[in-house]
Amino acid sequence: MAKLSGQRGKKRMKWRIGEVTVTKVVEMEVTGGSRFILPQATYEEILPITWLQPHFADERGRLKMSIHALVVEAPGRRIVVDTCLGNDKEGRRIPTWNNLQLPFLSDLAAAGFARESIDTVLCTHLHVDHVGWNTMLDGGTWVPTFPKARYLMGRIEFAHWRGQHEREDMAAVFADSVKPVADAGLVDLVETDHRICDEISLVPTVGHTPGHVSVVIKSRGEEALITGDFMHHPCQIAHPEWCSTADSDPETGRRTRERMLAELASRPVLVIGTHFAGATAGRIVKDGDAYRMDV
Ligand SMILES: [Zn+2]
Repeated sequence: MAKLSGQRGKKRMKWRIGEVTVTKVVEMEVTGGSRFILPQATYEEILPITWLQPHFADERGRLKMSIHALVVEAPGRRIVVDTCLGNDKEGRRIPTWNNLQLPFLSDLAAAGFARESIDTVLCTHLHVDHVGWNTMLDGGTWVPTFPKARYLMGRIEFAHWRGQHEREDMAAVFADSVKPVADAGLVDLVETDHRICDEISLVPTVGHTPGHVSVVIKSRGEEALITGDFMHHPCQIAHPEWCSTADSDPETGRRTRERMLAELASRPVLVIGTHFAGATAGRIVKDGDAYRMDV
């Protein structure tokens, strides 16, 4: 059974990229129980990848994963990248993701980010664990959590999920976490290479979902990349061929991973993982036929 830990904002972390600051605010961390998302990541496969310990796997080979938001501060801007699971949500496929009552918003405020102070929300894609805090329950109604923000969502991504009626759980996510902000007039649909400001732009990393994006940060000669879910866990740096069960197009996802890892290993880029636990960020380096991450 998955264990929850570290929700009280103690795992807050900050990185600087030139004039830009990125702060991690954790909603939930889990050790084990992630086989459903990466079936090839058995204990026997994970244990020999020694660099995964202690941040990304434990001594038994169980994967550690994190659900967190990343607050990106650029001159004059305050952007939340991905909004986790959210509280009070129902109809989620994973039982422990229903009706959460976690202190995420108070942790966000304690980190210095009152929700009214956020000017932009960016969802790398519209999966359940990336849109949850787009909304919060207020008197029985879902209202935008960040009332002064523009919510940036991919045009392709939005169209895909709006038209998805086959899976009830995904329809519930759209209904309670995406539609209310669109109805409030706060959504800007953007292309997969959209530029948010001088320092921050999007880059397409499709395969996990049809309109998936990652976030590129460049400032004063320094560079970082927020992954989104083109990699769920650092074990996919050692095994780029391992696909997540949540990938809508696994073959495209694998090609995206191989292309991105080759690119990222070619120059110094701080890679900040959207579900990477512990140290969360590091540099990709070539390691035999594949890669590793130096934290
Ligand atoms: Zn996802």
